[in-house]
Amino acid sequence: MPEARQQALHPDSRVGLGWDLHRLEALPPTGSAGPLVIGGIHVPHDLGVAGHSDGDVLLHALTDALLGAIGGPDIGEVFPDTDPRWAGADSAAFVAEALRRVHDAGWRVVNADAVVVLERPKLAPHKRAIRENMARLLDLPTDRVNVKGKTHERIGPLGEGRAVEAQVVVLIARAE
Ligand code: MG
Repeated sequence: MPEARQQALHPDSRVGLGWDLHRLEALPPTGSAGPLVIGGIHVPHDLGVAGHSDGDVLLHALTDALLGAIGGPDIGEVFPDTDPRWAGADSAAFVAEALRRVHDAGWRVVNADAVVVLERPKLAPHKRAIRENMARLLDLPTDRVNVKGKTHERIGPLGEGRAVEAQVVVLIARAE
């Protein structure tokens, strides 16, 4: 097969996968968890999310997907949860740093697809805002970012509402 045609069929691209989970716990005054934030959007809930930063499970998974696509270190290596600088941090900063590394390595993001596993509350009313915010953070049109909400069928820690989980896949291609 001529190389040009092979290039057209198989442009230089990479895929990155990210996964994260955070516990859902009591909010102050009885507990210490922070407000539930998913994809940078506050999701009202009677429980909060445990985490060193703002505990945004979706943006953490997105950060790891971006870093993974370029064969980089993982989120815990770049932003250690023992570092006081990241205490209560807005996880958008993690995405911005990962995206900077993607761009610096000569790549652009093609699209991102995500799954959020949350037993309750329903993610549906917030999906549009989450998707638009992720697209804004990635500097992509909204139709290149997708977010799906799933329950865990009431079984296990996720199904009992004791945790929230996210999985993200990103595709990157060589920047022209
Ligand atoms: Mg995390």
